[in-house]
Amino acid sequence: MRLSILASGSSGNATVVEVDGTRVLVDCGISLRQLEKRLREVGLDVDCLDAVIVSHEHDDHIRGLEVLLRRHPLPVLASEGTAGALRRVPAVEGSMRAGRALRIGGLEILPVATSHDAREPVGFVFSHRGTRVALVTDTGTVTDPLAEQLAACNGLLLEANHDADLLRYGPYPWALKRRIASSTGHLSNGQARAAIERLAHDGLELVVAMHLSQENNRPDLAGEELARPLAGSRVNVEIARRDRPLVVEVGQALAGVGQLPLFGADGRAAVG
Ligand SMILES: [Zn+2]
Ligand SMILES: [Zn+2]
Repeated sequence: MRLSILASGSSGNATVVEVDGTRVLVDCGISLRQLEKRLREVGLDVDCLDAVIVSHEHDDHIRGLEVLLRRHPLPVLASEGTAGALRRVPAVEGSMRAGRALRIGGLEILPVATSHDAREPVGFVFSHRGTRVALVTDTGTVTDPLAEQLAACNGLLLEANHDADLLRYGPYPWALKRRIASSTGHLSNGQARAAIERLAHDGLELVVAMHLSQENNRPDLAGEELARPLAGSRVNVEIARRDRPLVVEVGQALAGVGQLPLFGADGRAAVG
């Protein structure tokens, strides 16, 4: 399974999940122009997309959706609540429900309920031929049911939004700080680390820190914190960026590639 994280963070989110010729775009929070540019950078284009799935209606996840659909009519799936909040975008079908798996081409998609101040937000667990990868951002906490659904994943693309101290002592207004740190806000580095401690297992290959705050986090802080419970293991930890794509692959070991080093778009090992 190949994941091209085209953009991640509060300035815009978009990721392409690819298996055997099926390509699904998760969220479209960047402009069509940016989407086209970043797809080109990872060797893809809009015409090769099969569908769009939407995690929730916040602007950083849907900003480019309307223009994308106007130019490229694609099937769009979202939860009932998200679809209701996106009435402006008529093609969105409210046919997704947390806990009910669906299939697009060769990709199985399990929407999972997140804890976030949106109408009916979800994250996703993608499965293909025994490889499981979760993409979960915009959640104030990892609830027990969510943790159960994230068990046995080979890849965890997990929100590490803020460092608790940088948020606490940073420039944001008090009400916004309280919203971000709440159980329906965003996951901190420490909360993401705790989730990884709980979810790590022998089959885990890759962890990606997602949706980093520009103001209240730093890539080195997030990377250190998420790598801590994985010290001594072969799990690779990567940081998704807001300004450039990151390509990662999960499941090569299962496909028989074995110990060969695999590289992401920026030349760094994607699985190790
Ligand atoms: Zn977001
Ligand atoms: Zn959000």
